[in-house]
Amino acid sequence: MKCFQCNAEMNCNRETYRYQESGIDNVFLEGVGICRCDLCGEEAVKIPAVVELNDLIGKAIIQKRALLNKSEIKYLRKNMGFTGKALADAMHLDNATISRWQSGKQIISESHDILLRLIYCGIKGVSAKDQIEEHFKHSFLDCEVEPFVIPNDELDKLREPSVTI
Ligand SMILES: [Zn+2]
Repeated sequence: MKCFQCNAEMNCNRETYRYQESGIDNVFLEGVGICRCDLCGEEAVKIPAVVELNDLIGKAIIQKRALLNKSEIKYLRKNMGFTGKALADAMHLDNATISRWQSGKQIISESHDILLRLIYCGIKGVSAKDQIEEHFKHSFLDCEVEPFVIPNDELDKLREPSVTI
């Protein structure tokens, strides 16, 4: 692959990519094609089918063992195609509560956390039994935060076209 900036040949490898474009700082994509230009430092990252990838990340988030944080709540809301108001209506809460969760001014309660995950399962048509049933048995508060790793075989299942960022 040629560099967009200087047209030199780039070095391409498959690497684990920290996908900060997701808005979440601990999402890692395994085996992503990354090309670098030794001449000018330009970098090109091949992200597979973004819409499907976003759903994969959403599913990884609802399986998180610890309480959802502000960026994860925002991510799930957007991934469901909800405005803040729409999510507030779905949860029978006021919009200000959603805003406070998303700004980090208020920590989501465990019951609202599980409700949000259940709504996500409903909207996305995924099985709550498969995805979050495990969460019914334990407290989110006792769990450590772990990174979201999207494995290479899951990424390979995503079809083209890919975009380059
Ligand atoms: Zn270059």
